Amino acid sequence: MKLDHKSRLYGMISMTFMAAALLVSSGASAQGNFDGVELSIEPVAGNVHMVQRPGGGGNIGVQIGPDGVLLVDSLFEPLADKLVAAVRQVSEEDIRFLINTHIHIDHVGGNRSLAERGVLIFAHDNTRVRFFEEMSRFPRAGGTFVPQQPEAARPLITFNDTMSFHLNGEEVRAFLAPPAHTDGDVFVYFSESDVLHLGDVYRTTSYPIIDVYNGGTLQGTIAALDLAIEIAGPDTKIIPGHGLDVVKRDALVAFRDMIVDIQGKVLAMIRDGKKLEEVMAAQPTSAYDAQWTNDPGWGPDDFLPVVYYQLGGSGRLLDR
Ligand SMILES: [Zn+2]
Repeated sequence: MKLDHKSRLYGMISMTFMAAALLVSSGASAQGNFDGVELSIEPVAGNVHMVQRPGGGGNIGVQIGPDGVLLVDSLFEPLADKLVAAVRQVSEEDIRFLINTHIHIDHVGGNRSLAERGVLIFAHDNTRVRFFEEMSRFPRAGGTFVPQQPEAARPLITFNDTMSFHLNGEEVRAFLAPPAHTDGDVFVYFSESDVLHLGDVYRTTSYPIIDVYNGGTLQGTIAALDLAIEIAGPDTKIIPGHGLDVVKRDALVAFRDMIVDIQGKVLAMIRDGKKLEEVMAAQPTSAYDAQWTNDPGWGPDDFLPVVYYQLGGSGRLLDR
């Protein structure tokens, strides 16, 4: 009996490794082909600019001034030279500091290249820990594995709550948000420029991507948005992690309210004993799908199971 159990277990483990190996290769190709990608740099407010990818695939915060350049996130590694070239369009000063908002490869991929240029990298403690995992996990397609970043990409300086840079005539405050997209989500607020970078907790293109493999939660997503809404004034410019539009506080309120509405609908169905399939068939997101399904990898079929299981629906997300 014991042997049977063991051999079944080994079978499962080797299957898992095979699946992981397959996913590594698909994950690597999922990073995309970067040939011909042209980055642009746009003014946001005050000292702050934003480097954008076509289609809104990741927004890099860029604070410039006589004290040097501070970046928020570093895109994918193959884009690092283009990122630096985009920054050079608005500043000749040294790029001195980089804050990673979270672990995902499209936000930390340029770290090594920037570190080699002498840039000091900062992140939350929880984000640095993720650099030590054998492979990095990505929330789409049921938790795709991608190769881990090299040692040289790791943040050199970490913090456990909040830290401030006093740079270019303003305080730049980086602080941990509730566990929303991941458990290392950092918001960055530029006090005089009145700009707030929210990383991937907020994107204009899709439902919130709650990466449960890296500590993201539904309750944390709502709490993090509440926090951003509390910090932002009516004229604060908000940089989303993805999406081409800089938004204001009212857009965050609408986004939060949408999530709370869907949460309420799903919770009511769970209390009625509905299975995930029944919840999905009822299409509780239908009123929002046209606006929030513009990111090909994250539609209601991806978002609803996370909401369902985070609210205690039967079954476990990792088993699906
Ligand atoms: Zn992300």
